[in-house]
Amino acid sequence: MKIAFLGLGNMGSHMARNLVDAGYNVTGFDVVEAALQAATEHGVMPADSANKTVEDADVVITMFPAGEHVLAAYRDGLLAAAAPGTLFIDSSTIAVDDAVQAAEMAHDAGHLALDAPVSGGTAGAEKGALTFMVGGSQEAFDTARPLFEVMGRQIVHAGDSGSGQAIKIVNNMALAINTIATAEAFSLGENLGLSHQALYDVMSTSAAQSWSVTTNCPVPGPVPTSPASNDYRPGFATGLMAKDLTLAREAIEATDTPADFGLAAYRAYTEFDSEETSGKDFSAIIATKQKG
Ligand code: NAD
Repeated sequence: MKIAFLGLGNMGSHMARNLVDAGYNVTGFDVVEAALQAATEHGVMPADSANKTVEDADVVITMFPAGEHVLAAYRDGLLAAAAPGTLFIDSSTIAVDDAVQAAEMAHDAGHLALDAPVSGGTAGAEKGALTFMVGGSQEAFDTARPLFEVMGRQIVHAGDSGSGQAIKIVNNMALAINTIATAEAFSLGENLGLSHQALYDVMSTSAAQSWSVTTNCPVPGPVPTSPASNDYRPGFATGLMAKDLTLAREAIEATDTPADFGLAAYRAYTEFDSEETSGKDFSAIIATKQKG
């Protein structure tokens, strides 16, 4: 199976390398020359252009920043350059509507298509331990599954085109709300004179327990491996959480869903996201909940 991999950034570079290490023939392309160069050092064969990458590929994987990049690449010749019947997998996090449109464009060009966003961050990408949330036909999913198993551990076929993005967005919306709830609880606890350790010891084992407490605790100390204990190095960057919550807000509005807390989380993260905070772990939002 020949694979074309486009978008060799923070996530894509690791995912492509894991496919090479598993014995797949991977041709790659990135508009940033340094990213392409780094990937070739890990066994990815470089292509001269995006469209050249896909010419004799069986599977095309894209890992771009946003929906506009995916739709532009599909429109600007990627679909036309591939042989009919090629499987297009987009693993970027993009809007549900964009994912549905991308799949329609691929189907119209005679290809198979999946939206397959991931969670697990760069650490999960590096270890081949990502979660894949997949939307598209059973035939396309069955073809892609061995590749997902190389790059990930948990693979969920959520439904038709767009379902992968839908599940990614709702999961991250709940995560953002949990993180803000945890940050407010720690902040109120501080103001009531409680220690971080006492708060952690109860909240990590009681009914308020969540990943936002046990793994990504927003204050330094109780969890030594948490971003908070490491100067808020991500982890999952604030800028990416703000982007995902913008997609959640669009979905809330499009479906007329009463989701006040999701909208509040969208506002909190878009206000918090700045040049200074964008690269910090999203648990750093606790700074907006603390006095002084
Ligand atoms: P990134 O910016 O590091 O990588 C994207 C790469 O795509 C860049 O190298 C860019 O040059 C390249 N690119 C853009 N347009 C291109 C084109 N037309 N042809 C070829 N290359 C092109 O981003 P990332 O952190 O790797 O994230 C990629 C996607 O995964 C995003 O949608 C992000 O939201 C999602 N995601 C990221 C994380 C994370 O922790 N970084 C976790 C889960 C999901």
